[in-house]
Amino acid sequence: MPGFFMKNKLKNFILLSFLITSLILIWIWFSSTFLHIELNAEHYLLIGFSVFSFSWIFIQLLFYQIFSKEIIEINKLVENKLLGKQGKWSNGGIKEADPVETLKNHVNEILEIREKESKYYENLDSYRKEYLGNVSHELKTPIFNIQGYIETLINGGLNDERINLDYLKRAEKSVERMINIIDDLETINQLDTGELNMDFEKVDIARLTKDIYSQLELMSSKKNIQLKFDKKYDKPIYVYADEYRIRQVLVNLITNSIKYGKVNGETVVSFSFYDDKVFISVKDNGVGIEEVHLPRLFERFYRVDKGRSREQGGTGLGLAIVKHIVEAHNSSISVKSKVGEGSEFTFYLKRFEK
Ligand code: ADP
Repeated sequence: MPGFFMKNKLKNFILLSFLITSLILIWIWFSSTFLHIELNAEHYLLIGFSVFSFSWIFIQLLFYQIFSKEIIEINKLVENKLLGKQGKWSNGGIKEADPVETLKNHVNEILEIREKESKYYENLDSYRKEYLGNVSHELKTPIFNIQGYIETLINGGLNDERINLDYLKRAEKSVERMINIIDDLETINQLDTGELNMDFEKVDIARLTKDIYSQLELMSSKKNIQLKFDKKYDKPIYVYADEYRIRQVLVNLITNSIKYGKVNGETVVSFSFYDDKVFISVKDNGVGIEEVHLPRLFERFYRVDKGRSREQGGTGLGLAIVKHIVEAHNSSISVKSKVGEGSEFTFYLKRFEK
């Protein structure tokens, strides 16, 4: 039935049924007047049927004329208030469209949006629960450690020269760990809420990497890991970036290459150029990562080897922060890795053009 409301179809129907009805009536009139054929029950049935179908379709058009105005108003309301767009109904350009069909499409559109929204909120809710669980779990470990050391010291350990200083140092390490977690969480939160304004400027990425290498030399020397470039970069390589944030990215990636690198290994940074981009890669020959872990590596608190990460003072948030910052530079980061052979993280930045 609603299909019958279609304006153009109805017009054609009316025309057709008017034509057929007229032809039937003319033929009956002609045969009775000129051919002197007596009208029988079949003729009356035919007249009745054609008049009925003509009137039926005519009434449909009448209904259409009456209701279409209302439906057009509903369409306008749906577009403006529910879908938030200025469609052809709102602009008055309604001649060629069928209001009922449009209303049907609008209802479907709204249902799709609602479904997507409810899925999004479901995911958000489970993500929120998992996130809170992870945060409390991460903080619990150092807090329980501190509690344990303090209890031991109170219960006589304070006077025991063999453990008192050692336990205090361990407690201090746990406090440091908590501070690291909170700092990382704060950074993620700021990046999440967009509170952190990026300050884009001309940055010499080659110079920045050399700076970071010298800052991390002490750490790498403990494992005798060489911090190198794939070739000599004597000239500046200018990119368009937030220096402070990109420093954070490189520090995280290079620190990881040392933390998960092999003793006597190496970390190699290389720059390559494509179009208006500079590709920056940080490669190590460390423990590597199994392929199954790669898709989730940049998630918050995701670790391949929890024990190793904690042992190295990791919060499990480093790569999540890296991903956030790289994305804030309208870029993306990728990883290639093989267990036992090493890992390579690559991202790109826009080249600074004068
Ligand atoms: P974490 O603080 O644990 O280092 P990250 O977010 O920086 O957290 O890294 C997540 C996990 O990815 C680490 O726990 C580690 O298992 C793995 N990972 C990161 N970088 C490397 C690397 N260069 N080599 C091997 N594994 C790595």
